Amino acid sequence: MLISHATVGRLEIYGIADARPAPVDPTRSYPEVPRENWAPHRRWLTDEGQFQPDLGCFVVRSPDGVVLIDAGIGPGPVPYLGDARGTLRDSIGELGLAFDDVTAVIFTHLHFDHVGWASIPDAKGVMRPSFPRARYFVGATEWMFWDRGPTNVMAHHVDAFARIVRPVEEAGLLTVVPDGTSPVEGFVYRCLPGNTPGHQGVLATSGGHRCLFCADICHCPVQVEEPSWSHRSDADPATGKATRQSVFAEFADTGTLLAFGHFPRSADLGHVTRDGAGWAWRPLGTGN
Ligand SMILES: [Zn+2]
Repeated sequence: MLISHATVGRLEIYGIADARPAPVDPTRSYPEVPRENWAPHRRWLTDEGQFQPDLGCFVVRSPDGVVLIDAGIGPGPVPYLGDARGTLRDSIGELGLAFDDVTAVIFTHLHFDHVGWASIPDAKGVMRPSFPRARYFVGATEWMFWDRGPTNVMAHHVDAFARIVRPVEEAGLLTVVPDGTSPVEGFVYRCLPGNTPGHQGVLATSGGHRCLFCADICHCPVQVEEPSWSHRSDADPATGKATRQSVFAEFADTGTLLAFGHFPRSADLGHVTRDGAGWAWRPLGTGN
């Protein structure tokens, strides 16, 4: 399954796995967590005990348009992922949509696996925005971090920014908005730092119902139960931990839907509930 679905007010939310890379040992993605500490959390690993995150994004259909929250890994091949190719275009087609229907692209942050489809090569190989009728949005802190040419960042992120994001800016389709503000009516950025300095979630509201797109504050549902566990991509692990705890404390048992692009499609949409002194992840449709 590459597409999940939920309805929030008048919003139709689709979680799309642009790619699903080969499973890896969880200690590779969570190097500070010993293998044995995963034992109580095996349900979040494959049958073979491996970690296999989706590389996902979200399509939100509303009466006002089609909003894409993050843009996957792109058409590829992506050398960093063993020449993986994203399937977002096909998945959007399955929803009866085309790239031309997208009216807004909201970036949570600018890691390579969130910007991949932002631009694609034309017939002459020149990179052009993939969603020509959309406005693209990014928060100010995140934009400034990448725009100035960051150091201590893995090369594939820097390359993706230059090759894929910069053409959107040069085409005049990118709007940099202040952190925590609303890029599109009904959608408000929420500062959730840690994974990158300007990392933000997006809180969507419709008819009194809410969905928080949490982006990369977690890469696996285990981090709801173990919020002190940090994925190796976190730029500032201590801040990431504090962000997770504040999000779970605020949204647990509130009925707000939470959406995570790196969770498997079977569990990418759900609710956080209080569980003893901590929290639990309750995916939609599992009867939990
Ligand atoms: Zn990511």
